[in-house]
Amino acid sequence: MDFAYGPEDEAFRTELQEWLDANLGDFVDQGEIGDEHSDLTTRTMARRQAWQRRLNEGRWAAINWPVEWGGREATTMQNVIYSEVMAKARTPGIYNANGIWQIGPMIIRWGTDEQKQRWLPGILDASEHWCQGFTEPQAGSDLANLRTTAVADGDEYVVNGTKIWISTAHLARWGLFLVRTDPDAIARGAKHEGITALIVDLHVDGVKCNPIREITGEAMFDEVVFTDARLPVAYRLGSEGEGWNVAMGTLTHERVGTGGLAIGLRAELDSMVAIARTHNPGALADPGIRERIARMYTQVELTRLLNARALSKVLKGEKTWPEVPIAKLQWSHLSQALAELYVDVLGPMGVLAKGGPDAVAGGHAAHNYPWQRFTSIGAGATEVQKNIIADRAIKLPRR
Ligand SMILES: Cc1cc2nc3c(=O)[nH]c(=O)nc-3n(C[C@H](O)[C@H](O)[C@H](O)COP(=O)(O)OP(=O)(O)OC[C@H]3O[C@@H](n4cnc5c(N)ncnc54)[C@H](O)[C@@H]3O)c2cc1C
Repeated sequence: MDFAYGPEDEAFRTELQEWLDANLGDFVDQGEIGDEHSDLTTRTMARRQAWQRRLNEGRWAAINWPVEWGGREATTMQNVIYSEVMAKARTPGIYNANGIWQIGPMIIRWGTDEQKQRWLPGILDASEHWCQGFTEPQAGSDLANLRTTAVADGDEYVVNGTKIWISTAHLARWGLFLVRTDPDAIARGAKHEGITALIVDLHVDGVKCNPIREITGEAMFDEVVFTDARLPVAYRLGSEGEGWNVAMGTLTHERVGTGGLAIGLRAELDSMVAIARTHNPGALADPGIRERIARMYTQVELTRLLNARALSKVLKGEKTWPEVPIAKLQWSHLSQALAELYVDVLGPMGVLAKGGPDAVAGGHAAHNYPWQRFTSIGAGATEVQKNIIADRAIKLPRR
């Protein structure tokens, strides 16, 4: 490994840590905000909104944005420090994660001055919630197969089609959606062409969000159905047909954001051991459990080092495979194995659900166990990552 944190990086870390010391504690103590009748999703989002507002007051919400738009123009190294410090402190999620990390940077990159003025402040101060509408029933890993159409009619697009698995769409006012403005592109074998990025006002007629209840009991995702929805051409981001380039920009931001995941796993592991010491110390004497915990520490450390090697390559301008796809596979495997270990370590208490009077740590283990299944599909499905490794790193022949 041949990178070191410079004095500016250490100053950045110290400034962030001091700010967190002064601001995180009382916020975390608030727990979930909202009245006792509001559902879990609404309470979680209210807490995230309050936390993002607090971050923004300290100019810590959008570190990659330009200074003129409330950011810090953080370097790659500062991004890594940020995700390390935040993961270690186990800070809550933010209200507009998609907006801050993906959509905001795209509006900054592709938007007109008017679009920037209209939308960036609301993303940053968490006054307007945003979602990202890419996936369709027939277009997930194969995103370019998307078929939601947008037909120009004067100064409006008429949109028809169905999106699926759109996180928090029913809570959002705005979304960055990919639509097909050239319906012939798929038939002529050029599916990446004719895709356009369109900002959607989710409150207009013809847009319907149908929340999907998940195995955890929450409803964080939606099916979004467009039926002759009319949206101004002025809401288009970039030129017509340029949507694939706009989307690839947002997904690149998503990949860069995975650097702190090993730190998050380590924090989760430490917390699990601390909770077991209090609630089920006998489990920590069990040889089988002890071996699984030791294996988990080793694997998490290995993943952290893999990310460090990927960072070293980024800094040298080299390609980051196989490290990045392998780290992604490690993360999904370890997240699920750790969630299982957490339940086993707590024994019968591990299955007590959130909200129950005897639940340990708010029922975290029982909730997290099914939830972590998402890690083998989110941020690039497992088989797709394996294809990337086979193609680019091992260079296996294609049949
Ligand atoms: C937590 C979470 C949040 C999400 N939020 C959003 C959101 O806000 N907005 C949005 O647009 N989407 C969102 N998604 C959807 C996500 O982008 C898709 O689930 C993802 O792209 C996979 O698509 P799919 O679900 O259609 O699965 P598919 O692509 O159909 O995959 C199904 C299975 O087939 C395998 N497979 C696919 N292609 C290949 C191949 N070429 N070779 C071998 N195996 C293959 C996959 O690995 C997987 O096991 C979210 C998903 C999750 C889990």
